[in-house]
Amino acid sequence: MRLGLLSAIAALCFGVAFHGPAQAAGKIKVTWIGHATFEVVSPGGTTLLLDPFITKNPKAPAAMKDLSRYKPDAILVTHSHFDHTADAQAIATASGAKVVGASDHVRSFELAKGQDLRGNPGGKVKVGDVTIHFVPAMHSSTPGGRPVGFVLEFADGRTLYDTGDTGIFGDMSLIQEIHKPNIILLQAGGGPFNQDPEIAALAIKKFFKPDVIVPMHYGTFPILAGAAEVEKALGGDKRVKIMQPGDTAEF
Ligand SMILES: [Zn+2]
Repeated sequence: MRLGLLSAIAALCFGVAFHGPAQAAGKIKVTWIGHATFEVVSPGGTTLLLDPFITKNPKAPAAMKDLSRYKPDAILVTHSHFDHTADAQAIATASGAKVVGASDHVRSFELAKGQDLRGNPGGKVKVGDVTIHFVPAMHSSTPGGRPVGFVLEFADGRTLYDTGDTGIFGDMSLIQEIHKPNIILLQAGGGPFNQDPEIAALAIKKFFKPDVIVPMHYGTFPILAGAAEVEKALGGDKRVKIMQPGDTAEF
């Protein structure tokens, strides 16, 4: 009888944790809002908003531009440029979400006590059931110290690497060795500031063994690579998933 009650409670807890209506069991839910902006929901329901550039993002669907719909547990900012942070302060203020980013960058936000989760490459912080690792990125960030990428480590051991804005660099091999990313949100924007899609493809070939690759940060502005260039460079790889802004995929 007692055991029955315990198992019923366990089943209830398990059910709440893993079979909520908004989330398929054990799935990582990734929604592309356009450019480098993603919403990632962990299997346990932790919601992370990556590089929020929404209201003035030419690629963000109109239905996603109302900032009041965003109530993340944390906002992750890879660096201080407007196309990664434009709506971060407003959403942080309205929602109370934690702000995760490079130590000196996050200091530039106006946040309540304890709302900042500052780090640097090699470090990690925890939000809900997700451990967020800070990794290097080869870019700039002024004001804000330095650019970073993030590796999200989920409770089931799987990992998602958001490269942030970057060119290819040799220490990507260490990111693979240490974190073995299963899903990579891959900078493929080209132009003067980031790696071309062909070089993004080379980075994958040379350094990583992911299950899924989602190219991002292209097609937003004329200066960036377009969809055809990304398709040409990366489309032949069966692991590449080309998303459209507004799409949600589950992994
Ligand atoms: Zn950018």
